[in-house]
Amino acid sequence: MELKTSVQGYPRIGEEREWKRTLESYWKKEFDQSTFQVKMKDIRLDRLKKLKQSDLDIIPVGDFSYYDHMLDTATMFGLIPNRFKHQAESNSLDLYFAMARGSKNAEACEMTKWYNTNYHYIVPEFENDWVPKLTENKPLNAFLEAKEELNINGKPVIIGPYSFLSLSKGYPKEKFSYYLDILLTLYAKVIGQLTEAGADLIQIDEPHLVTSLTDDDIEIVKDIYEKLADLVPNSKILLQTYFDSVSHYEQIVHLPVAGIGLDMVYDKEKHVQYIKDFGFPNDKILSLGCIDGKNIWKTDLNNSFSIVKGIREYLPNHQLHLQSSCSLLHSPVSLGKEKALNDNLVNGLAFADEKLEELRLLKGALTDKDKVLRDWEEHQQKVDLFKDKYQRSNDKREGKIAQSYRSLPFSERHTIQQKKWQLPILPTTTIGSFPQTLDMRKARTSYRRGELTEETYQGMVEEKIQRWITIQESLGLDVFVHGEFERNDMVEYFGEKLNGFAVTTNGWVQSYGSRCVKPPVIYADVTFDKPMTVRESAYAQSLTDKPVKGMLTGPVTILNWSFERNDIPAKAVADQIAEALTSEIYHLEQSGVEMIQVDEPALREGLPLKVENQAEYLKWAVESFRSATYKVKDTTQIHTHMCYSEFHEMIDSIKDMDADVISIETSKSHGKLIRVFETNVYDKGIGLGVYDIHSPRIPKVEEMSKVIEESLGVLPPFLFWVNPDCGLKTRTEDETVSALKNMVEATHLMREKVKSSVKI
Ligand code: GLN
Ligand code: ZN
Repeated sequence: MELKTSVQGYPRIGEEREWKRTLESYWKKEFDQSTFQVKMKDIRLDRLKKLKQSDLDIIPVGDFSYYDHMLDTATMFGLIPNRFKHQAESNSLDLYFAMARGSKNAEACEMTKWYNTNYHYIVPEFENDWVPKLTENKPLNAFLEAKEELNINGKPVIIGPYSFLSLSKGYPKEKFSYYLDILLTLYAKVIGQLTEAGADLIQIDEPHLVTSLTDDDIEIVKDIYEKLADLVPNSKILLQTYFDSVSHYEQIVHLPVAGIGLDMVYDKEKHVQYIKDFGFPNDKILSLGCIDGKNIWKTDLNNSFSIVKGIREYLPNHQLHLQSSCSLLHSPVSLGKEKALNDNLVNGLAFADEKLEELRLLKGALTDKDKVLRDWEEHQQKVDLFKDKYQRSNDKREGKIAQSYRSLPFSERHTIQQKKWQLPILPTTTIGSFPQTLDMRKARTSYRRGELTEETYQGMVEEKIQRWITIQESLGLDVFVHGEFERNDMVEYFGEKLNGFAVTTNGWVQSYGSRCVKPPVIYADVTFDKPMTVRESAYAQSLTDKPVKGMLTGPVTILNWSFERNDIPAKAVADQIAEALTSEIYHLEQSGVEMIQVDEPALREGLPLKVENQAEYLKWAVESFRSATYKVKDTTQIHTHMCYSEFHEMIDSIKDMDADVISIETSKSHGKLIRVFETNVYDKGIGLGVYDIHSPRIPKVEEMSKVIEESLGVLPPFLFWVNPDCGLKTRTEDETVSALKNMVEATHLMREKVKSSVKI
């Protein structure tokens, strides 16, 4: 029996984020295209060298990208939206970046979340006049490069046709099979050429197979792989799934491919059961994703060992591969740089490079135990040490959370709050942040390095707050914000201040394009230490008679944008964060800040991939939000903010959050959202973003009046708020002031209109 190790992919960004820097320098035109290519090749080969040194048996190639693997695949198949066609003559690299980032004449392609990770992919766009062609066999080039330069016989990685087309847009459902057939001929070319060039195994990623599939869907999947088997009969395809258990296990394992890759970490223990119940075909490779690919905990190898050993007993003659649960793309690169973290915590962590070592140990333990014994013991000792020190579970709140409702229903609170706040109809406000200028970011870095005293830094923050309170006064906004100048990131800021969190120095993960995020690590019970936002909020409130909203990040968003614990349920962690936020809210109220916004932009992101698990998640997520916000005075107004447009999918959950006011991003999907309210009643305060903050364009008064007017067609004027669709930290001061000036003017016009129509 053969046992081999592999991974589905490895981070692109480099140990020092050199990939990011190379991209951004190229975009800034600091060097030309050929220098860019040379630099990128170095990064790509360095990565491969590292994988080679790590003793990995099968090395992935083609998972590297200049931006995103979905975009790579789309451009490879000639899927260039018409609006970029004029660019096609320039050169393919700039065309590629124009699709990702937009250009002077064409809006960027849509970007959206990659399943349940924080990675975002570029959505491929189909258009009627698509001329399918293989512009370049990218996986082949990657394969040949690895072979020629490093003598690596790599495993090319390609996103599979079913997932690719399911994640694409721009075609009616009835045309799925039509486009699929065309795509298959292109896939066959790619795969055929790879096989010809000597690729022993080709990884075709089909993460879509872990979502809820109908019987019809699975028939389509069968058809795809039967057709591919006909088209490229000599190719060895490893059908790779990840992020959850596969739907329709029995059918999937019998597809005509050489091997099947299953996630053994996030499958809720289903795969072992399926293997026991339904077996696994004798002639196929079974690839077991038994090391967590998207979280950062050191693996308890005893566990993985017994899972693999158990499967071996069932399948003694099978070829098994040991892998990460998904591509290591979702994991930071290396622990090597984490000098500032507590040693005990480091004992419990494994980034991508350490995960490769875990695979080596696991294989060793199963084949030649003595060879790895010392390293294995050392590894397990660290795991135990970490568990002793940190993994404490004290969740005793189970069950209590659900009853956390405010003492009065919204309709009664609303009357009391109106009396207190005396807001005009269509109150105007913003979402929280104001432009984060370079001087502020530099000051924060200096302050962190100890080059700036707390007093000086704080003084700068206060100066900014003061400046923007004055600006808000002169703009005539109704509800102010302090501007979030003290925050680097809306989650990391709280991560640095709450107990139970650690912030890494180099735990970067690609989020989209060159943008990387550094999620904080939740390693222990989360508790409140001391007020985190009161100083700035109370200061801002002291400068004006207008209400200033206190600004917090909600429990579910903090959880979803952090590396989570894996020893207690996510729900328990969310509840702990909620409890800590309750204390913060109490302190805010005590200091006279009585409008409090608790942002939940990432609430939807935790939604499980399978429909049958979604209701349960939404239930506890909403309960956590409520438990953070319910213990306030009747007069205290709780706001929340979300930035996505799939509002219709979860309107009941959003209602159940019971916030007094919600603001949501809608500017890109306004029409769609308006239709939601034609059929659904939303009877609490609501602000639909009236302009898109993601663009530097200054919205016109008339445009915004129109948006408000349309909204008032379906929402009552006394509940409607006027605001931009998200925080303004990425805009310049001029853009912000001009846009808000127009927004206030549009509101005044609409107020007049509403008043006169009421008189009639
Ligand atoms: N309050 C945050 C801000 O204004 C909200 C950001 C977000 O929705 N992602 O920046
Ligand atoms: Zn937002």
